[in-house]
Amino acid sequence: MNQIPNLATSHGWTDVLADKLSKPSGRSTSSPKFEFDYSARGCLLRIQNFIEKCPGFVPFVRQTDRLNQPDVMLTRTPRIPGLDGRKMSKSYGNTITLSESDADIRAKTKVMVTDPARKRRTDPGNPDVCPVYDWHKLFSTEEPGRLEWVRQGCTTAGIGCIECKAAMAENLIKWIAPVRERRVK
Ligand code: SF4
Repeated sequence: MNQIPNLATSHGWTDVLADKLSKPSGRSTSSPKFEFDYSARGCLLRIQNFIEKCPGFVPFVRQTDRLNQPDVMLTRTPRIPGLDGRKMSKSYGNTITLSESDADIRAKTKVMVTDPARKRRTDPGNPDVCPVYDWHKLFSTEEPGRLEWVRQGCTTAGIGCIECKAAMAENLIKWIAPVRERRVK
């Protein structure tokens, strides 16, 4: 993980330096006036550039503590596709809302897009390109063995898409029921 020095202790001399550099010298009428970025990021970059160019100043720069630069943290399902496999969006009409009834959830998920290459029940599929599997990863993780059942069954044509979708729909209904109840209260 990258680390950024805390600017609190070095901000004072940076301001002085920035102030001096931003004022054109009296001898040179043609020198342009520098515009300084005073944001924390701007200060940090100037400090880093300065130290790189003048390593002799390193002993005079005190860093008391460090701020951790955050890294990206993605969930297991960084992108949830809509029922049709496109980006989930109300305007596409490919969503399931929190107020949806169980019957509607079953009906809507029944016609979900699957692996487009799996044309027949006997064709092995690829869960990694299937929106239903993305939804399984979101709603079926609590059910022991369900994800493995899907992967194994799909890639060997051991299960059909209808039963795969039905299993996912039941887990989605279980997940959504308490949310729906809370919204009614
Ligand atoms: S079996 Fe499940 S994961 Fe495989 S293509 Fe069909 S719906 Fe998708």
